[in-house]
Amino acid sequence: MALVNENYLKLPGSYLFAEIGRRVSKFKSENPDADIIRLGIGDVTRALPAAVIENLHKAVDEMADEKTFKGYGPEQGYEFLIQKVIEYDYTPRGINLDCDEVFISDGSKCDTGNIQEIFGLDNKIAVTDPVYPVYVDSNVMAGRAGILNSEGKFNKIAYVPCTAENNFIPALPKEKVDLIYLCFPNNPTGMTLPKNELKKWVEYAKANKSIILYDAAYEAYIQENDIAHSIYEIEGAKEIAIEFRSFSKNAGFTGTRCAYTVVPKEVVAYTEAGEAISLNKLWNRRQTTKFNGVSYIIQKGAASVYTPEGQSQIKTLINYYMTNAKIIREGIKSMGIQVFGGVNAPYIWLKTPNNLDSWSFFDKLLTEANIVGTPGVGFGPSGQGYFRLTAFGSRENTEKAIERFKTRLKI
Ligand code: PLP
Repeated sequence: MALVNENYLKLPGSYLFAEIGRRVSKFKSENPDADIIRLGIGDVTRALPAAVIENLHKAVDEMADEKTFKGYGPEQGYEFLIQKVIEYDYTPRGINLDCDEVFISDGSKCDTGNIQEIFGLDNKIAVTDPVYPVYVDSNVMAGRAGILNSEGKFNKIAYVPCTAENNFIPALPKEKVDLIYLCFPNNPTGMTLPKNELKKWVEYAKANKSIILYDAAYEAYIQENDIAHSIYEIEGAKEIAIEFRSFSKNAGFTGTRCAYTVVPKEVVAYTEAGEAISLNKLWNRRQTTKFNGVSYIIQKGAASVYTPEGQSQIKTLINYYMTNAKIIREGIKSMGIQVFGGVNAPYIWLKTPNNLDSWSFFDKLLTEANIVGTPGVGFGPSGQGYFRLTAFGSRENTEKAIERFKTRLKI
């Protein structure tokens, strides 16, 4: 008799987006003429930059000729891309990396979900709350999270609240934790962590022999100075941190798929007998066994992000979304609603007016203004009473949505 992995049965189901879909469908069937604007999803809407498209075409042509054809590539990624990543994203910030410390992949979702495999099941996990759900769910599947309690928390995970009360700055956990997921700029709150706060986490990890899993998928959106683009800007972080980056949100690769993960050779975790083991070696073993690498064509496209044209084109893309963020942020703020994020990130996190719970505000916004956003409570219990809007829509829809906020929403 085949047995299932019963840990999967502990997952609450993908309630959030299924429930949003159900409520929007019901509203549409009752109001077929309503023009619904979606500011809920975290997917980009602008086309790929021209420099990327040009290189993708060239790479396709290379596949048509035996002299330039590529079969299986290195699972860790082609050196032409890895070298550019190091040269553009790390060297200018004073961070030295070797090529075998950067692993090209098909997404930060996969990497942040898969990384837990190289750690023992007895590790205590810490996540910020609210949180990108992949970190929690992948640990539930592995059997590291325990069971879901009535507060909406897994009993073996340490949740670190990030709310307006602490200005979205997570406090160090009181209990000892082993694996810490941090994501800055943050999805869903759109907030960042000043360098002196990030330093505290690095020091905590060093003192406790913990590992920080640092998700920097939104790094390209940072506009202010005192914010680390990479955790390795903090002294000592190369000994305790793994960093995730993606081409999804800076260059529009959400459908094309390319990302990378940095695992410095100094980062170690321990056997029960206390022997230090290189996580770089373990991740390399995991990837070479279970992953076949990102296609040559896509890696060629990603490498063109690091050409002068590519750099200028992605800047234009980011500016486009950040202008949307400003329109949303300032428009909503002018109504007297408390808003957070949207300065160094494409997400705007608002406090629901009149202390409505997240789902009641979802319904109100949908019925009164025909706008779809994401209820904050869907990202964790501390998201209750908050609501996420994204800057990834078109300018036209963004402006229209804010106009509707001001003219149709009754608050
Ligand atoms: N990490 C965070 C915090 C995200 O919000 C997302 C996507 O929304 C990802 C990772 C996924 O990135 P990718 O498209 O590279 O899988």
